[in-house]
Amino acid sequence: MKLLIKNGQILTMDEGRIIKNGCVRIDNDTISYVGEDVPAENGERVIDARGGIVMPGLVNAHTHTAMTLFRGYADDMPLEDWLFQKIFPAEDKLDPEAVYWGSLLACAEMIQSGTTLFADMYFMNEATIRATLESKLNANISRCVTGMEGEYKNRLSEAEALYDAYNGAGRGAVRVEMSLHAVYTCGKQAMRAVSKSAAKRGTGVHIHLSETMKENRDCYQQYGKSPTEVFRDMGVFENPTNAAHCVYLSENDMDILAENHVGISHNPVSNLKLASGVANVREMLGKGICIGVGTDGTASNNTLDVFEEMKLAAILQKGMRLDSTLIDARTALSMATTNGAELLGRGAERGKLKKGMRADVIILDHKAPNLLPVHNPESTVVYSANGSNVVTSIINGTPVMENRELLTIDLEKTVHGVNESLKRMGL
Ligand SMILES: [Zn+2]
Repeated sequence: MKLLIKNGQILTMDEGRIIKNGCVRIDNDTISYVGEDVPAENGERVIDARGGIVMPGLVNAHTHTAMTLFRGYADDMPLEDWLFQKIFPAEDKLDPEAVYWGSLLACAEMIQSGTTLFADMYFMNEATIRATLESKLNANISRCVTGMEGEYKNRLSEAEALYDAYNGAGRGAVRVEMSLHAVYTCGKQAMRAVSKSAAKRGTGVHIHLSETMKENRDCYQQYGKSPTEVFRDMGVFENPTNAAHCVYLSENDMDILAENHVGISHNPVSNLKLASGVANVREMLGKGICIGVGTDGTASNNTLDVFEEMKLAAILQKGMRLDSTLIDARTALSMATTNGAELLGRGAERGKLKKGMRADVIILDHKAPNLLPVHNPESTVVYSANGSNVVTSIINGTPVMENRELLTIDLEKTVHGVNESLKRMGL
């Protein structure tokens, strides 16, 4: 199918190029032209952006998709109590059906807030993959491995079987990675085994790293090292790694991450809501570390709106350091587009509007009062926009939402599935 998005303010994210009145041409799943407006060709479908901002789809670099089921279920609690007293017991009641409906609800929310690629770390992943493929999103999916000596083995086998069955599914929409939950839930054997398994398959590793002060303190007590040093010593960073949070990193830890090209998903909303702290984004960027943004699961956010993360990523550093020049709009926008794609190993194919890239494109409302006037589209997107401003979303060349209407998901059926699942789980 040929598609022409015309009459847009094109925010390409390709070396800062912005086209005031431009168009994006899509040939099947690939962008074939980005530039000044051109007339439609014979038989080409035209979408009129009506002067609205046209930009690459957003990347949510860290989430636990099916946790939409626990949105608002446990708030205002310390992280340890939240996790061990509420979330883990609730997760014990999950079944694949519940994970499917929870994931589908998440996919609906992600599409409606402009996300076109996400990184998911969870379990019963086949259900999430099914939801992802049906809704036509792109995702890096990993089976979360936990466990001390020996206990991790079944989970790792599941992760490997998942890779064999689904890596590359949906013409490359789905990538299967490995993951280690965290230094406090995984033993050394698990870390070594997961690293080797990822290396053998040439895939990435998704981890939680130094999210809280307690995690670091306990790690020093157990290993005499930081979580970063433990993961490095177990060979984890020999693989492309997406490290979520990184709130408590020493200068040495940052150097280790930079040397090993470990990327970071920064989750400011979750880190604030769980009172974990604020990551030193300025220092990490200064060391050349690739930083994307993530929402984390909806039990600790409680939305999947990447626009919120972009804005907070920018203003939090300004406020913490009393320097309003820190993390400008373009930097924040890069985190949610080009950096996110690179972090997920997709930088060569996604994150920019450029000829030859996969066509993941979103269009913002041309007449939403909160977006007007547009003096600088980058500022508009980061400081003024929210997920509800996305009117149209195209993923791999296929429209998945037009004028806010979801085209790949039956929302009513999804909500019914979610409610039935919650009833079954007694929640
Ligand atoms: Zn997480």
